[in-house]
Amino acid sequence: MADFTGKVAIVTGGSRGIGKAIALELGKNGATVIVNYNQSADAADAVIDEIKAAGGGGMAFQADVSDAEQVDNLFKTVTKEYGQVDILVNNAGITRDNVIMMLKPDDFDAVINTNLRSAWLCSKAASRAMMKKRYGRIINITSVVGIAGNGGQTNYSASKAGMIGLTKSLAKEIASRNITVNAVAPGFIETDMTSELSEDLMKRAIEAIPLGRQGKAVDVAKAVAFLASDDAEYITGQVLVVDGGMVM
Ligand code: NAP
Repeated sequence: MADFTGKVAIVTGGSRGIGKAIALELGKNGATVIVNYNQSADAADAVIDEIKAAGGGGMAFQADVSDAEQVDNLFKTVTKEYGQVDILVNNAGITRDNVIMMLKPDDFDAVINTNLRSAWLCSKAASRAMMKKRYGRIINITSVVGIAGNGGQTNYSASKAGMIGLTKSLAKEIASRNITVNAVAPGFIETDMTSELSEDLMKRAIEAIPLGRQGKAVDVAKAVAFLASDDAEYITGQVLVVDGGMVM
């Protein structure tokens, strides 16, 4: 198992679901973790408590990561408090699904801003800190729908495809500074985001997964931990799909 002792990691949207599992995976393996959240303060505090109980450290930090000023404040606070940012996981995300005729421009903007703009803002702020140290790992949580598309998710899949473009361009831009940038594309994972699907949709989704089950948040967290580890030091600009074989 990777050892993240001495590393400082920021996980956006680390209060629930996949982000929570990533924060725990990094924190329990030695990283100091900043668990960013937007609304779920108690949940974020509970993640930090769990990391501390396992011998790690860090803090919860409220910031709407689609907002440039709040992102600036997040990174200023972290660099002041801990002096460095080694790992950034751009995980915060929302859905506002509907067929295109029913979607409003606001539904498009909200999803693009929360999923894609946030990743760009945080990557920019993290790059500054990482370039100074000539070390960094940026991992973007995209989605299989950013690769394959999905009816009813034109806004969401556009944001996730955008994250893949961001991953590859930034990987090329900052590779010479020893910073890797990769993406993880989860398939159908058991979290609050997918809990409201109808039984019928859930059944059909699972039928389309060769491994025959919905993924768990920890399945994604393990892939992120790998890309953040020294074992992945020669991997950059890649999209690692974690979907039980759903899209291949
Ligand atoms: P989730 O359970 O709904 O959790 C979303 C997280 O994002 C929460 O911690 C939430 O924090 C945070 N968040 C939302 N808006 C934010 C903002 N403006 N600023 C900061 N944090 C914000 O979702 P999930 O299923 O874990 O998904 C996590 C990521 O994986 C997303 O990017 C999603 O698109 C992607 N993904 C999920 C699946 C899946 O099947 N679940 C599949 C592919 C990709 P608060 O509660 O504090 O607001």
